[in-house]
Amino acid sequence: MAAPLLVPAAQSIPAPPPLIVVSMDSVDDGIIQEEESQTVNDALLPKTLNVVAVPATIVADGGCAASNSSSNNHHVARRWWDGWLRTDPPEAISDVMQQNGPKNHSKKRSKKKSSEVRVVNHQNNYVAVTLSENDPAHPAATADPCPSPTPSSQQPRRRICWWFLFLLLLLTVACLAFVAVSLVSLLRNGQGPLTTDATVCFTEECVRTAASLLLAMNQSADPCQDFFQFACGTWNKKHLIPEDRSSISTFEVLFDQLQIILKDLLQEKTIPEDNETTNKTKLFYNSCMNTSHIRSTGDTVLRETLQSLGGWPVLDVEWSTGQGADVGSVENLLGRLRGELNQGVMIEQWVGPDDKNSSVNIIQIDQMHLGLPARDYYLKPSSALHVKAYHRYMTEVAVLLGADKLYASDEMKKVLHFETLLAHISIPEADRHDTGAIYDQMTLVELEVRVPEIRWREYFNAFLPNLIVEDSEPIVSYAMSYFEELGKLLMRTERRIVQNYALWRLIMELVPHLSEDYLEKRAEFRRVLTGVLSERNRWNQCIDYTNKKLGMAVGAMFIRDNFNQESKEVALEMIHTLREAFIDTLDEIEWMDEETRQVAKEKALAMNERIGYPEMLTQPDLLAEEYASLNFTDGHFQNILNIKRYEAEYNLNKLRQPVFKDKWSTEPAVVNAFYNPNTNDIVFPAGILQPLFYSSQFPKSLNYGGIGVVIGHEITHGFDDKGRQFDKDGNLKQWWNNATVQAFRQRTQCIIDQYSNYILDDVGLYIDGRMTQGENIADNGGLKQAYRAYRKWVGRHGEEPLLPGLNLSHDQLFFLNYAQIWCGTMRPEDAISKIRSSVHSPGPIRVLGPLSNSPEFARAYQCPLGSPMNPYQKCSVW
Ligand SMILES: [Zn+2]
Repeated sequence: MAAPLLVPAAQSIPAPPPLIVVSMDSVDDGIIQEEESQTVNDALLPKTLNVVAVPATIVADGGCAASNSSSNNHHVARRWWDGWLRTDPPEAISDVMQQNGPKNHSKKRSKKKSSEVRVVNHQNNYVAVTLSENDPAHPAATADPCPSPTPSSQQPRRRICWWFLFLLLLLTVACLAFVAVSLVSLLRNGQGPLTTDATVCFTEECVRTAASLLLAMNQSADPCQDFFQFACGTWNKKHLIPEDRSSISTFEVLFDQLQIILKDLLQEKTIPEDNETTNKTKLFYNSCMNTSHIRSTGDTVLRETLQSLGGWPVLDVEWSTGQGADVGSVENLLGRLRGELNQGVMIEQWVGPDDKNSSVNIIQIDQMHLGLPARDYYLKPSSALHVKAYHRYMTEVAVLLGADKLYASDEMKKVLHFETLLAHISIPEADRHDTGAIYDQMTLVELEVRVPEIRWREYFNAFLPNLIVEDSEPIVSYAMSYFEELGKLLMRTERRIVQNYALWRLIMELVPHLSEDYLEKRAEFRRVLTGVLSERNRWNQCIDYTNKKLGMAVGAMFIRDNFNQESKEVALEMIHTLREAFIDTLDEIEWMDEETRQVAKEKALAMNERIGYPEMLTQPDLLAEEYASLNFTDGHFQNILNIKRYEAEYNLNKLRQPVFKDKWSTEPAVVNAFYNPNTNDIVFPAGILQPLFYSSQFPKSLNYGGIGVVIGHEITHGFDDKGRQFDKDGNLKQWWNNATVQAFRQRTQCIIDQYSNYILDDVGLYIDGRMTQGENIADNGGLKQAYRAYRKWVGRHGEEPLLPGLNLSHDQLFFLNYAQIWCGTMRPEDAISKIRSSVHSPGPIRVLGPLSNSPEFARAYQCPLGSPMNPYQKCSVW
């Protein structure tokens, strides 16, 4: 179930709230904050102790990959966060993650001035949050080494020199480090106790943990006004977005750590003890790193592939009269692309458990994503630049393959026009949330009747040559109105344009695996689309491809030295406490009728937990069997084609096979978590069981605020707008009483309205409260359950000793750690892309939304009723 995108739901569109934009002046200025932060920080530190400076690597101790491979089963799994799938164009799904920080950040600055994306909630009072400091004013790039803060309202005395501040900070941190290290060393030498206060923990781990929390915070911010700024203000200032990324966040820091671990594993020379799968994996990685081989092969294999599919008309003016006459039908082409290369075009297709009978695999179809990240890119005039860059990219790639430039430009205009029509007929994601409403099962014959313009039999037979698709073959569609329109569109579109488009989508997917000349064209396109200024190192990209394409094989290598069995036991224990907390919540909910409540409890109790990795990874024979039909050579491009064919077969082979519900296919080396409604599983891969989410050395308050909330989030997915439609056995079924469904919808509407009120100021876009509702419900429920579970733990084990230097209770720490998971900033281009395409709200909203709905948070931080973080009106579903 390692799964990509999500689905669907439809309800009436709420009228957009009035646009109120907070002016730049009303938002805190960074430099002032830093000055004030210093003062307050010092004042809060106890006189007996200072904290140790912890480098960023400790904040992100451990680490793992965020990502998961694109699988076809994308209708079922909910995940904790986007991974990196949504930050780049879909063609880049397998290579989206950016890598290390800039080596010469000052050299190649963006021409843009410092640009910030601010989040504003004007529902109650203003909440203004700095979401992104895109390429902040960099001293090296200006003649003035001490640039002054920009707003004219700044008082002169506050025009503090950045460098001076930086040095001051550095000195302070060094002093803190010295004192703390001394303390720790004293402790180690058994010369404690160092304090008379027995309720404070002074172990090395406590000191380190406190330091890392402190170093991210901006204590001059008022936690009741803007908790994101309070928790992450300093982190966001200290972490500039690297040139080769569209954002920076705690997740990316964790990802970097994981990449280094994986690099060590994959670069190791092959040794006799390596098993077959490890050898294959290393061979794939090495072929990816072999750029001279890639250069010498050029695009030969790609050209041959295009030829075998009937040719790319843009390369051949005579196409329609010559070879084009024999290429066969569009249906045959689309079927072959799916069956031979796992490439969906216009029609998304996969074989997976039937939502209404989860023990049977069935053919499923849906609308396909487009070349740009979301349909709005084609439909909104504000994206004209993106579309232009996309057209240029298509044209230039065609020219590299041998097309005449003018001719290619013309042909690609037609392709773009066709894709814009596809965008028009595709259904907005926000209208696709209600799985029950969009699920439409029919036989092949019925499908042929409903969309007669498409020869479905020909399409299916092209990729299921070994199986007979009979008239009665059941097929589930999730986008019937799209297919109806697609049929008509295909009828009135020239065959040549469709051929050009279909093969362009394949080429777009394959460009990242070609030589530098192609990669340059792609980089230019991505610069406009994502704001990324330079490409990643080759090794980062290759690690990423390897982990995404051979996730289980890499996972088997990773877990050998990077997974502690103890963390599995702790996670299990936490899951049980969280589940108890959820069941307690069910008992208190007034809007639920008794009968539904009982069934809901049964579903919560039946949820399977999967932690770390599947046992299969420790059995080389089973693992080898998994990859038996996949073989590699020295040629990277050919290897990518082999993988695509392997993925296609893997998908199609499931037809006529029973559903193996125990089979667990989530890659272990990812920082993410999942809920799968078809199996009622919650999954926590090895990659997420580490700091900031979890550490055996953390106080429980931090673990519950970290992995605890993630667990609660995944449990709640079983009961969100989509998950609630599935029963305990993973079948789409109405098990709720109608009145309870009504009450649930009312509560959900509160969440939708609340989130729809958040606006990303600089890009002028509101959060899509409908598209993100499932994740927002899960965030709110997860936080509530985790807090309850923590209090239960305290009830059983007593209060924990405090962390040194923080002056925060454990209740406060619980919420602080939750918020710090979301520290990060993004470029405006990335913000636009996320708002338009992601089912998750941006990080700061994931802090502000759930916390402002939490009475427990307001109590912990003593926020006055009516303050932004403690509004009069709160939303609560679970
Ligand atoms: Zn989620």
